[in-house]
Amino acid sequence: MFLSRQYKQLLSAGLLCMMLAVTNAAVALSKDSKVEELFASWLQDDFWPEAKESGISATTFKQALAGVELQWNLPDLVTPGSKPPSKRPQSQAEFRSPAAYFSEKRLASLTGAGRDLAGKWSKTLGKIEKSYGVPGHILLAIWGMESNFGRARMAHSALPVLATKAFMSTRKELFRRELLAALQILQKGYISIESMNSSWAGALGQPQFMPSVFLKYAVDFDGDGRRDIWNSVPDTLASIANYLAKSGWQSGRDWGFEATLQPQVFCGQEGPDRARTINKWVGQGIARVNGKPFPKHELEADGMLLVPAGIYGPGFIVTPNFYVLKEYNNSDLYALFVGNLGDRIAHGSGAFHGGWGDVGRVLRSDIARMQRVLELAGYDVGGADGLPGYKTRRSIGEWQRKNGHNPSCFPTPALLSELH
Ligand code: CA
Repeated sequence: MFLSRQYKQLLSAGLLCMMLAVTNAAVALSKDSKVEELFASWLQDDFWPEAKESGISATTFKQALAGVELQWNLPDLVTPGSKPPSKRPQSQAEFRSPAAYFSEKRLASLTGAGRDLAGKWSKTLGKIEKSYGVPGHILLAIWGMESNFGRARMAHSALPVLATKAFMSTRKELFRRELLAALQILQKGYISIESMNSSWAGALGQPQFMPSVFLKYAVDFDGDGRRDIWNSVPDTLASIANYLAKSGWQSGRDWGFEATLQPQVFCGQEGPDRARTINKWVGQGIARVNGKPFPKHELEADGMLLVPAGIYGPGFIVTPNFYVLKEYNNSDLYALFVGNLGDRIAHGSGAFHGGWGDVGRVLRSDIARMQRVLELAGYDVGGADGLPGYKTRRSIGEWQRKNGHNPSCFPTPALLSELH
């Protein structure tokens, strides 16, 4: 592996920073009565005028926030007047192979529960698909992924979490807006304060919606007049469906298909901006792994190539619905997990056929360095962030092809020594 001396020094310095940061992160902030006083006056003098302006009544405000206490055990807190902790130096984190994400144990357990629930809620799911155009197995997969079908314990009361983060966190402005949205939810009577539980990050209920997302997309599907994503399964599933429908889900289309690529298929053709009809991909030498043809109605519609680990992992032809799943959570692997789990629930299928190969040990800083080299050579890598997204992967492939290497479309230790 090529490493300059200077780079090695940086590496040691970075590792030291990481150790310090880890130590800091492990120590929760301790309760501080002065800060609690500041919090009380912030609520009254700073936040209340804005809440009032946006239509929150004094009664709602008081009911929701009187006596609310700072949650000192939350991560990413910054007390007023103190410096934000130095950002965790992700650069030295090891980039993990996508394989780690697809735990067969977790997938198998979610599939079992998902198939039972598909039977139990089949009527409701049918009605929801009719209303929103999103198939039940996709809704079940997201529900399973987000809250283990509502079984995950929501350990926090949403208001103290949101208020703490709006007052003292690394993303104060975002949480201030979310706190305001939570007050609007209460004022509209969608849920009582006692029932409004969330994750430590303030995500609400079984679909894990942030309050602003709740206001936009949550629906009352069981007809009791309340949009209850905490206790009602029909409301939960229909709210997820509404989210996907409003984000552009195309009814009647699949999310994607695992595919085999003949050796002549260039891996650097990925990306939503390089869509072509599935027929054209078939013409290049791409077929489904299960030997079946692509469904007829998909052939003339757009598909995109996806190779999350370049030639070292499974390949896919995805549809625009894949990118709608990414609207729910902006990660290729999240969307693939949901797609795979949905397929298992719908068809009893299993793991992806193509295994995730060993891509070696690569640091995010190494990937960022490769990205900067590629940028200097005029390639678009989508920013040197140390993460191998599709722009980085296809630029690697293009560089390899141009420089007489076999395209692999993925950063590996071997590539690191070539790209400098
Ligand atoms: Ca309801």
